[in-house]
Amino acid sequence: MTVRTGVLIIGTGFSGLGMAVRLKQAGIEDFVVVERAGEVGGTWRDNTYPGAACDVPSHLYSFSFAPNPDWSRSFSPQAEIQAYLERVAGDFGVRPHVRFHHEVLAAAWSEAERRWRVRTTNGDFEADVLVSATGALSDPAIPSLPGLDRFEGTVFHSARWRHDHDLTGERVAVVGTGASAIQFVPQIQPRIGHLTVFQRTPPWILPRWERPFRPAEQWAFRHLPGVQRLARAGLYWGREQTVAGFVVAPGLMRAAERLARRHLQRSVPDPALRARLTPDYRIGCKRILISNDYLPALTQPNVDLVAAGLAEVRARSVVAADGRERQVDTIIFGTGFHVTDVPVADRITGRGGETLKRHWAGGMRAYKGTAVAGFPNLFLLVGPNTGLGHSSQVFMIESQIAYVVDAVRHLRRTGGVVEVREDAEAAWDAGVQRAMARTVWTTGGCASWYLDDRGRNTTLWPGSTWRFRRRTARFDPEAYQGVPENAANPACRTPPTLVNSPAT
Ligand SMILES: Cc1cc2nc3c(=O)[nH]c(=O)nc-3n(C[C@H](O)[C@H](O)[C@H](O)COP(=O)(O)OP(=O)(O)OC[C@H]3O[C@@H](n4cnc5c(N)ncnc54)[C@H](O)[C@@H]3O)c2cc1C
Repeated sequence: MTVRTGVLIIGTGFSGLGMAVRLKQAGIEDFVVVERAGEVGGTWRDNTYPGAACDVPSHLYSFSFAPNPDWSRSFSPQAEIQAYLERVAGDFGVRPHVRFHHEVLAAAWSEAERRWRVRTTNGDFEADVLVSATGALSDPAIPSLPGLDRFEGTVFHSARWRHDHDLTGERVAVVGTGASAIQFVPQIQPRIGHLTVFQRTPPWILPRWERPFRPAEQWAFRHLPGVQRLARAGLYWGREQTVAGFVVAPGLMRAAERLARRHLQRSVPDPALRARLTPDYRIGCKRILISNDYLPALTQPNVDLVAAGLAEVRARSVVAADGRERQVDTIIFGTGFHVTDVPVADRITGRGGETLKRHWAGGMRAYKGTAVAGFPNLFLLVGPNTGLGHSSQVFMIESQIAYVVDAVRHLRRTGGVVEVREDAEAAWDAGVQRAMARTVWTTGGCASWYLDDRGRNTTLWPGSTWRFRRRTARFDPEAYQGVPENAANPACRTPPTLVNSPAT
């Protein structure tokens, strides 16, 4: 049986849940949310590693429409954020719309039916509008290392933490020193036998100014909503002030570098270790990390920092790029995600049978990070160039959601199909890349996961978040074209069929 719906949303992280809530608030109820996992939460359901927490303060890293007076600390731990998202799903009536354990395997635009046909692991759907909210940091990336498949110990990625595996007393290799590793390394270091941390490039680390909220503050947040709104606005504008250093004048970042150097000096007394931990690129070029306990953990006698990547894995050992071999029982990869090669791109097929992956062969691009030429009635949340280096991703997500809700309203009014014009998409992308040239991500002298394999930054928004909000405030049909019925593309005359779909 094929389920027919108005809007199909893929994913139940901040993006998919926020989209569902806003559709409901707009009076649109005929939508379904499909989720491959068994609970909502996305990032916060999956990243359960010890020490997992947000690094943007919670009063800002949350939905504007669902303030939470009960955050326990300025940067909430994973379990609290996950509980918050589960509560949002319940309180706003999203749950009845969600189909868990439905992984989207293929979504194809049917030219004849002028709608999306979607095949999942648990049934098929047809939808007028498809919203992909599958996340940019959702699919863990493990480097293909020679010998990894022959390793006889335990291997896992930080986003799929093996809580059933006891690390006590073990020899552990941690690969990567990014945002996740700096959170879990200090948590596991005291109980493991020996820890080897493989660091390709040292991150810049700033102090983590955090504290628990006092009961009086929580009382005020709960009973005087203006106080919480004020706190959120203060956090928002405080962060927004730093954007110039990222996007127009990286020289402004020198003050932050001085702060980070002092933090390093105070945390690591040994000059040789400090030298290995001192970055040689401008702060902000890679994601700025915040931690008070990572650097001290590296000074402990059971820790060895290898300032080189991992080159090879053997049955019971790992070999660094400098040739030294170390015996290990467990390897933990803190190596990030498929960001510029999101797997869902290979599963979405637009007009003419072209997949999003093929369309993006020259690099990801999307009009306003949201719409793609050749893919009618498809909207991406956290699409290309919508990520941030300085503030809350939820702000960008809410901007995109407002735009998509307006687009859905437009489609309902006009009864049509919209597809962004190629020239509008190209002009948007050219503008983004022009602005990118001045940013710290381009001029800062580092390689980062923000860049694709051509060195093009297809992940971050090179501007202020309020500028993005202004640009996405309203759906702009003038940037779109209608898609005529029975479009002349010969490749599309036969309605595309979904392989193995019982409905076709
Ligand atoms: C450890 C960690 C910490 C972070 N901390 C911060 C922070 O402090 N501040 C900040 O601004 N950002 C942070 N981020 C970025 C974070 O990813 C975003 O802020 C936000 O959570 C993204 O939400 P999302 O809904 O777009 O994606 P996700 O939360 O990744 O959700 C995507 C959902 O789609 C589902 N899905 C994917 N593919 C399919 C498919 N084919 N079929 C069905 N379902 C599918 C997934 O299961 C998942 O539930 C962090 C990321 C990580 C990994």
